[in-house]
Amino acid sequence: MSLTLAFGEFGGAYIPEMLYSNVEEIRTRYLDIIAEPAFQEEFNNLLRDYVGRPSPLYLAKTLSERYGANIYLKREDLNHTGAHKINNTIGQILLAKRLGKKRIIAETGAGQHGVATATVCALMNLECIVYMGAVDIVRQAPNVARMQMLGAKVVPAESGSKTLKDATNEAIRDWINNAETTHYIIGSAIGPHPYPDMVTRFQAVVSEEIQLQLQEKTGKDHPDYVVACVGGGSNAAGAFYHFLHDERVKLVLAEAAGKGIDTGHSAATSILGTKGIIHGCMTLLMQTADGQIIEPYSLSAGLDYPGIGPMHAHLIKSGRATVHAATDDEAMMAVIDLSRSEGIIPALETAHALAILDRIGLKKDDHVVVNLSGRGDKDLNTYLKYIEENNIKL
Ligand SMILES: *Cc1c(COP(=O)(O)O)cnc(C)c1O
Repeated sequence: MSLTLAFGEFGGAYIPEMLYSNVEEIRTRYLDIIAEPAFQEEFNNLLRDYVGRPSPLYLAKTLSERYGANIYLKREDLNHTGAHKINNTIGQILLAKRLGKKRIIAETGAGQHGVATATVCALMNLECIVYMGAVDIVRQAPNVARMQMLGAKVVPAESGSKTLKDATNEAIRDWINNAETTHYIIGSAIGPHPYPDMVTRFQAVVSEEIQLQLQEKTGKDHPDYVVACVGGGSNAAGAFYHFLHDERVKLVLAEAAGKGIDTGHSAATSILGTKGIIHGCMTLLMQTADGQIIEPYSLSAGLDYPGIGPMHAHLIKSGRATVHAATDDEAMMAVIDLSRSEGIIPALETAHALAILDRIGLKKDDHVVVNLSGRGDKDLNTYLKYIEENNIKL
């Protein structure tokens, strides 16, 4: 099933002229390439045998009892490399091969997308260059080691705040200079059109499986709620895709309030953001009155992004999706809670989705699917440090 995605007043491709031919090549070819039976077969086989799909849909008993509803966890944390990001990088590397590209570039903040990209480049034997802020390289050393282990070259971005947006600028510069040979794998449902649409299609396998698995378990073909955390928006977009036009399904996003929405240390983009252009698309972003990006903050590196994918901006503005923000503290409590109640240590990003479950007005016997976007192994140092600094008795 292929749906048309709506972006309303958001989206578009606001790019320098020198990128036009690259983006246009992808735009004119991606839908045909994805629809090819040989592409579908290769994509689906890799998702099954390499990623380990379908990921289970797990009825979380303790959570369900607490909320008096049926809370299901979609276990993207069990995927190879530990999160949903691999679904997209597999799709894009297969596309890159069909476009005849020999070289892959990517940007990464926390390093998760860098690892997922380095993984598929090793799998396909393609050259891989990952741009990463110099500050992030120090903060995320274990993921830098993983990328190097997989054969990727990690290039530090030394400009500006030396974080994700600077790495993105470096990646775009590289792409302009190597347009013929290179594909740029963007890691979320952001960037110039068609990236948000394309990434959503590669992640759509998540909601396709949810639909089948829920039917099999309960006889119901749709949940009452789908809940997902949102950074750029790829895991949420994938979990929503097959339910976008089904008004029986309430779509709920959880963004990062950081230290609190009004503290000046937040990444609650849809709440604090205004309309503007970031990384080639029109969307909601945190910006000053003269359009300079405001540095976002979240303890969770994967949600620490100043914009939100354009499809989500539209879903929120049109009232189709609702959004709640969880603070660092609320997310950390949700991490500890899930670890203790279900024996699952979630990624800190994911915990934001769990943290807002008590605010969405669940009714008895509702069927709720929470997209468990990733596992918490990468965050263990953050968790232990937080527990120690806050004197939490476990
Ligand atoms: C990167 C990441 C996110 C945020 O990215 P989206 O594109 O918004 O999904 C969420 N959860 C995990 C585990 C991640 O690694």
